Amino acid sequence: MGDIIGKYLENPDFTKEEFAELLGFASDPEAAGRLREEAVRIRKLHYGEKVYTRGLIEFTNYCRNDCYYCGIRRGNLHARRYRLTKEEILDCCDRGYELGFRTFVLQGGEDRWFTDERMAEIIRAIRSRYPDCAITLSVGERPYESYRLWKEAGADRYLLRHETANEAHYRKLHPSGMSLAVRKLCLYDLKLLGYQVGAGFMVGSPGQTAECLAEDLVFLKELQPHMVGIGPFIPHHETVFAKEPAGSVEQTLFLLSVIRILLPKVLLPATTALGTLDPRGREKGLEAGANVVMPNLSPVKNRKHYDLYDNKICTGEEAAECRGCLSRRVESVGYYLVNERGDAKI
Ligand code: SAH
Repeated sequence: MGDIIGKYLENPDFTKEEFAELLGFASDPEAAGRLREEAVRIRKLHYGEKVYTRGLIEFTNYCRNDCYYCGIRRGNLHARRYRLTKEEILDCCDRGYELGFRTFVLQGGEDRWFTDERMAEIIRAIRSRYPDCAITLSVGERPYESYRLWKEAGADRYLLRHETANEAHYRKLHPSGMSLAVRKLCLYDLKLLGYQVGAGFMVGSPGQTAECLAEDLVFLKELQPHMVGIGPFIPHHETVFAKEPAGSVEQTLFLLSVIRILLPKVLLPATTALGTLDPRGREKGLEAGANVVMPNLSPVKNRKHYDLYDNKICTGEEAAECRGCLSRRVESVGYYLVNERGDAKI
């Protein structure tokens, strides 16, 4: 059989077949432990005990897409839709800056009310008020020209999970109007424009196999993103996948270690979804190689409506409480939050 873990530790330049074999060990505690140890060694080598924070501003839950897994999909007629005004967004940044955030992430559904120009205006306003902060966008697929305009307006980073790198699996998760090819093209456009780019996927989404995950890893290696967001799939009651089982915390942690070793300097968040499935999920994520957390800066009145999956945590607290809680959690596993932009050391 050979020691596939040892082989990976020696040289992570794996083929799809080798990744699939490696993933067969996701529920083997000894294998996971060996990968975790190496992942932590690498993360400490590049980032010490620092944990970077991103203030997440969920500024709209309107969405033109109908992704089968997502609670804010267009087809969910029960979602209470909201949009933040530019002033509300700036208020979130003000609160965030006071609390020590030096990255603001504007995330939302694909809401074309926010035209290229409206987005650019918001970006310019944040850029001029906070020249020392990074601005991250996460608003889905747009033409090259829109991405270019926003880059010029002052955006630095873009999060666009590829969701799955397997064609057939992509079609199972999305309606026919959407395609993996377009998703990938957007990621390459963003890279070309000089954004720091984040890709990623859900772990345990319906129909996902070890081969799908192996393709995700091969794709990540090829794309060489600055950030990789992964979290377990969690069903939402108003979606096609309402009755599907959630992804596994164990497999997510295993993948975090695998990705840290594959892309040593990558920015790797311990996600809210991980914290939703396991009360110590984010701490465990940090212990598996993650180095970023993304607490919520959205106004409390809107939070529960940015409802991607059921039982999402941190929807009731003020930003300061969230930051304080997270800071304690991070310290409980030997790391500490820093007030820095936290660019990738790539
Ligand atoms: N519209 C933006 C932002 C999407 S929300 C975009 O297209 O990029 C951010 C991420 O939440 C998605 O990329 C998806 O991976 C994740 N997500 C959505 N529904 C989820 C669910 N049911 N369980 C876990 N993660 C989910």
